Amino acid sequence: MAPPPPPLSPAFHGDGHDHESCVETALDRAVRLCGERGTRLTDMRRDVLELVWRGHEPIGAYDLLDALRTKHPGAAPPTVYRALDFLIGQGLVHRIESLNAYVGCNRPEHSHASQFLICESCGATAELNDPAIEAAVQRRAAALGFEVGRQTIEARGLCPRCREAG
Ligand SMILES: [Zn+2]
Ligand SMILES: [Zn+2]
Ligand SMILES: [Zn+2]
Repeated sequence: MAPPPPPLSPAFHGDGHDHESCVETALDRAVRLCGERGTRLTDMRRDVLELVWRGHEPIGAYDLLDALRTKHPGAAPPTVYRALDFLIGQGLVHRIESLNAYVGCNRPEHSHASQFLICESCGATAELNDPAIEAAVQRRAAALGFEVGRQTIEARGLCPRCREAG
């Protein structure tokens, strides 16, 4: 049986999206997951995660650093990169390679290959975790004798809101 399609990402939910509870859920989930895994979500890591979740648009490391300095004046680039390394390792954050920027993940419980839909107008980015897409790439690559190590699929276009705005 085919797995059910993943739910529409909050990134592309309209005005009804309650982002405050979205962030709260993400932070609660991070605390719980790190607890279960015996890893430490330090204040710094938590603060960086919260900043990544400030919206559904990917944010760059230097914008993170600027925002982080309001609370941690001594923060330097390595501070941010170390926190990001941890968060990525825990699956809590993904790096959008084409933008060299970061977004929060809604399903950090299990590691997964993702496909990202990136709005070229407003920057909103939605994540698909479609195992069928992942498997199709693996299958076609294997047919060419290629072993896929990591998949990065990033599609550009217009989100529903920007399409509506014309
Ligand atoms: Zn949200
Ligand atoms: Zn994810
Ligand atoms: Zn948009």
